Amino acid sequence: MANVPELFGSMVFNDRKMEERLPHAVYKALKRTISNGEPLDPSVANAVANAMKEWAVEMGCTHYTHWFQPMTGITAEKHDSFIYPSSDGQVIMEFSGKELIKGEPDASSFPSGGIRATFEARGYTTWDPTSPAFIRDKTLYIPTAFCSYTGEVLDKKTPLLRSMEKLSNVAVELLHILGKEDVARVTTTVGPEQEYFLIDKEMYDQRPDLIYTGRTLFGAPAPKGQELADHYFGSIKTRVAAFMADLDEELWKLGVMAKTKHNEVAPSQHELAPIFATSNIATDHNELTMEVMKKTAEKHGLVCLLHEKPFAGVNGSGKHNNWSLSTNTGENLLDPGKKPEENLQFQLFLAAIVKAVHEYQDLLRLTVASAGNDHRLGANEAPPAIISMYLGDDLGALVDSIINGTEYHSAGKINMLTGVDVLADFRKDTSDRNRTSPFAFTGNKFEFRALGSSLNIACPNYMLNTMVADELAQFIEELKGADDLDAAIKALVKKTLTEHQNIIFNGDNYSDEWVEEAERRGLLNLRSMPEAMAHYVDKKNIDLFVRNGIVSEAEIYARYEIELESYSKQLHIEALTMIDMAEKNITPAVIEFVNSLTDAALSKKALGAYSVYAETTLVSELSEKLEAFVKKTEELKAAVDGAAGLEGLELAMYYREKVFALMNELRVLGDAMERKTSEKYWPYPSYGEILFGV
Ligand code: ADP
Ligand code: MG
Repeated sequence: MANVPELFGSMVFNDRKMEERLPHAVYKALKRTISNGEPLDPSVANAVANAMKEWAVEMGCTHYTHWFQPMTGITAEKHDSFIYPSSDGQVIMEFSGKELIKGEPDASSFPSGGIRATFEARGYTTWDPTSPAFIRDKTLYIPTAFCSYTGEVLDKKTPLLRSMEKLSNVAVELLHILGKEDVARVTTTVGPEQEYFLIDKEMYDQRPDLIYTGRTLFGAPAPKGQELADHYFGSIKTRVAAFMADLDEELWKLGVMAKTKHNEVAPSQHELAPIFATSNIATDHNELTMEVMKKTAEKHGLVCLLHEKPFAGVNGSGKHNNWSLSTNTGENLLDPGKKPEENLQFQLFLAAIVKAVHEYQDLLRLTVASAGNDHRLGANEAPPAIISMYLGDDLGALVDSIINGTEYHSAGKINMLTGVDVLADFRKDTSDRNRTSPFAFTGNKFEFRALGSSLNIACPNYMLNTMVADELAQFIEELKGADDLDAAIKALVKKTLTEHQNIIFNGDNYSDEWVEEAERRGLLNLRSMPEAMAHYVDKKNIDLFVRNGIVSEAEIYARYEIELESYSKQLHIEALTMIDMAEKNITPAVIEFVNSLTDAALSKKALGAYSVYAETTLVSELSEKLEAFVKKTEELKAAVDGAAGLEGLELAMYYREKVFALMNELRVLGDAMERKTSEKYWPYPSYGEILFGV
């Protein structure tokens, strides 16, 4: 492999290249926009466009694309070449500031939740200078925001950028009140840990369920699953290691700081974690990471599955959103420091986050809700559907002491004695981990763990930023003009923590007792996507976004409609795929197997064989199951037809309660037949082959 520092960012129009290639004044102006959030001076765009093009053409590019994140949940791109006719009938390579700043993809075919009628299809993409352009496949990619002709937001990036700006403004104002006049900007930082499955392409190609829906809709468990815990952090197989090395290299070239890789709990499951970046760049990089994972897998004859639950009975995949706030002066605002009991600034930020998570638990829950994630949240798998916060022993004790007015004793950093001379002793963390909490404090950041693996992290982050910004703004109102600032802060922190302590839970989130306890505490338990999504349009939530200028009421309704529609469509596709698999392959396969058994029994009888017990037992067992299976398939078809005429929340609820329930019943019957049917006849690769096949 090439020299990594040299390789890193080689495909990115990064700071170093900008400084090298831009006139000094242009570079300075652009930097002010990127680092301080100052408005972009349009006059610099031409110079930037030209420098970008020169670099891209030198690197072999012929095209550029505005890269954006519409509400489909995946990224979109439309490629234009740099060619421009010259007077002699030839072409030259051109790229203007106007082309850099503004693109015009047809907006009519992207989901808009009714905001856009198809006849007024104009949509605009706008250059986001805070996320650097990069090269992939001989094309210059320009990160952009996407809005409609009339200015409605049609993407995930715009609200994220707005929320970052909002949070920065209020946090800076608060820090100024606290005497930190030198802070000019606060950025939210995110490090998303990404889980995924890697399976053999040949197996994948034989499974219509994986192809159409990303998850297996049938499949009896393999004799071995994850019970031995031998995959988690296990030694990485050669083929997977080759994929991971290739992936790291591709990501590094794109400036993504891929840092950690390891095997996850389920067989064939893995994880990649980058070093954190600003929320905006972390979001773009996470989208890029998911795309590069898929493309790199192809090169290795593998398929990367990003679905939240590709296989029943083994762990699904999530994404941990590590989130913090830092100042332009280099301070992490969520670092409690050596004496958190005296650190009023930290206590204020902590109290604001506690209050935000408590008041907007429904938003945090719904922002991670999807058809795929429904198989994890609320289904006895990593984090539950109940949103709560884990603070750990140390901070937990601090909060208790503040609420009760008692003295605080920190456990302090403890030396860990390894007891072996050749092993160095080290300082152990003050709190252990709690892997069951959906929102856990991990030393100097919060880890929001309920995200699904395929989710675009922009949504959870803009919601989180907005709710925290809103709480901080309220704090500013309370503290502004206080005579005794310290006393006012202490009183505010105490009052806030007392009122919102119910959201803090340091125990086992998977236990049944917690479900009951949470109910007593009045916490929400929104078990499914439609149940959660219903809260999107609650007045308090609409007010939050409108008050903070993040999205308008019409845009919230549009997002709500889009999410529900996408959920219903996904379940619809899953149901149709199941019906198709059942009727075209599973039922005929079982009939053939039963026929072969019947033929065998008949010929054995004709020969006067001693017994045909095996054949007849199997024939009757399978025939009985097959009858139930065929009837259930008919029921499922009728249920799908029954959706006609419903829409929105009602339709989504119908799919969840009627269609999804029948799909589960059909699967049980199908899997029971798989267990009894000869492998020679069963039309699909088994869980064993897929999960242990790489
Ligand atoms: P662990 O989850 O095992 O404690 P790390 O401490 O390495 O692992 O952090 C996991 C992720 O959190 C990484 O992506 C890391 O970059 C990110 N992270 C660390 N510090 C911050 C921070 N201040 N803001 C956002 N993310 C952070
Ligand atoms: Mg982690």
